[in-house]
Amino acid sequence: MILQLQNNITEQAAIKLAAEIQAFHISYEGENYLITGSGVKEVPSQLVDKTANNWVFANDLQLGSSKFLTKKRTVQFGNVLIGGDTKNTVIIGGPCSVESEQQIRTSASFISGLGLNVLRGGCYKPRTSPYSFQGLGLEGLQLLAKMRQEFGLTVITEVRDATHIEEVIAYSDVIQVGAKAMYDQGILRACAKTQKPVLIKRGFGTTLQEFVQAAEFVLSGGNPNVILCERGIRTFETGTRFTLDLCGVAWLKQHTNLPIILDPSHAMGYAYGVADLARACVAMGIDGLLIEAHPDPSVAKSDASQQLNHPEFESLISSLRPVATSVGYNIV
Ligand code: PEP
Ligand code: MN
Repeated sequence: MILQLQNNITEQAAIKLAAEIQAFHISYEGENYLITGSGVKEVPSQLVDKTANNWVFANDLQLGSSKFLTKKRTVQFGNVLIGGDTKNTVIIGGPCSVESEQQIRTSASFISGLGLNVLRGGCYKPRTSPYSFQGLGLEGLQLLAKMRQEFGLTVITEVRDATHIEEVIAYSDVIQVGAKAMYDQGILRACAKTQKPVLIKRGFGTTLQEFVQAAEFVLSGGNPNVILCERGIRTFETGTRFTLDLCGVAWLKQHTNLPIILDPSHAMGYAYGVADLARACVAMGIDGLLIEAHPDPSVAKSDASQQLNHPEFESLISSLRPVATSVGYNIV
């Protein structure tokens, strides 16, 4: 249950009231304090005259629920806004991993040359094998910061575990919580303490309910800037790397108030399918698209088979514009 306290209730009073009913408090957009608790189905007697509004939920999709905020949240994604009334589909482009200064500068210059705003590149890679390239770590984060400075791009990079979360928060404009990391409560709780936007990728064995509950950790901890990312789930099919769950996207659009970004690159696993999938995603009316692109995918140190080369990426972006327009969105 969410209890919206009257706006004359101070933070201290809110903390005390929350403790009395064994819930926790948060502030929401600096106007009224909210108390969010689980299992509470009616306003506790001591809060009746202190509550301005309340919402009861059947499960723990609460602050992220479209029943709480009927309008989708607006999130400042670096230089651009997404969600709310914006009708923007932000393109997140760039390599799987930051590999060298030359590679990331070529990528940054390419993304910025296309008039796009957001550069991606992993520095702490959550690899399935310990023998694979693990990422450049802090050196990679510093290179991304340099690219932001040189090209005016927004940068997004992933956090692999809680040991380097503070570094990623410090260097990145948007924090990506990877599909394997989304259950890490140390990460989620740290992400709740910043106001930087947090893009949470759906684990490949994660139900929609578990996915939105990961978002609730960040929302209820005090950061309203959460974005969900569908990147493919594991099914019985082995011909493609994962299965992009577009039904799940329709569910999230209906039941949550969070911006939604789709990642066809990791779902497909092969460059040949990415453009068709990307157009299908954009046709759903979405807040963003994550596409991996590399100056020379054949030598990429991670996810080589799925990354587009730059001419492929450029022609994909041109083909996305009319699709976005046809559903009332703009590619940014
Ligand atoms: C990535 O974005 O490069 C990545 C590792 O994604 P995921 O966490 O979805 O596997
Ligand atoms: Mn990747």
